[in-house]
Amino acid sequence: MIKISTFYIKNEQINNENISIVGNDVKHIKNVLRYKVDDELEVCDENAVRYKTKIIKFLEEEIMLEILEISQKDTEMSIAVDLYQGLPKSDKMDMIVQKNTELGINKIVPVLTERVIVKIENSNEKKKIERWNKIAAEAAKQSGRQRVPHVENVVNLENIVENLSKYDIVIVPFECEKDKSLKMALKNIENKHQSIAIVIGPEGGFSDKDIAVLEKLSNVVKVSLGERILRTETAGIATLAMILYEYEL
Ligand code: SAM
Repeated sequence: MIKISTFYIKNEQINNENISIVGNDVKHIKNVLRYKVDDELEVCDENAVRYKTKIIKFLEEEIMLEILEISQKDTEMSIAVDLYQGLPKSDKMDMIVQKNTELGINKIVPVLTERVIVKIENSNEKKKIERWNKIAAEAAKQSGRQRVPHVENVVNLENIVENLSKYDIVIVPFECEKDKSLKMALKNIENKHQSIAIVIGPEGGFSDKDIAVLEKLSNVVKVSLGERILRTETAGIATLAMILYEYEL
């Protein structure tokens, strides 16, 4: 079965029964995929609605699609899980973005905690964020998601406390936590939460100050991920995979 390519559009690109593809996707469809009139495409809008469409017309900078049906296939998680990732060194963030996107993350926020070693100047921050969002789009397309998770700008830990307070639960895998496991934390969840945040420390882990900042929140649960120390890039992926198991599989 030929894999039908998925494209992500803004809602304003939908006009009744038609959808117009614009921008870089036009060249990709024309010159890379070499699609022709009547070829089928999958299109997802900003509300994660997935449309089965076919090409009806090629214009200079636009491709017109006809909506054939609204697909019932739903590949999104039933709950929104956001990852607040202590900014790691080198290109580990590439893998963190790719793997968490495949697993269904809702959004990723790079966080500066006390032991973050990376110094990210404004000049290259924009380029890195653009790169990470490109990786998220590619991973979303490859895994057949209806939405592309957004990678937000880098933010200080102190500045996310307000946002974290709005989640149903904030799961903080903490390497010094010995009592509560992730399994216990998830089992104790009576109602299935609608929104979960995961906060992962950088290579150097969480400092006492970081933990003190997070412990101000009543919805924070520090958990152990077991006796072995996971790399920062592994910890978020493992935590999301276990939440996925608990909630979806
Ligand atoms: N510097 C710490 C040490 O050597 O003990 C390790 C930090 S670990 C590389 C990075 C982050 O992954 C931690 O801050 C925590 O968020 C998470 N993590 C790794 N292993 C964990 C475990 N066994 N239990 C809970 N969290 C863990």
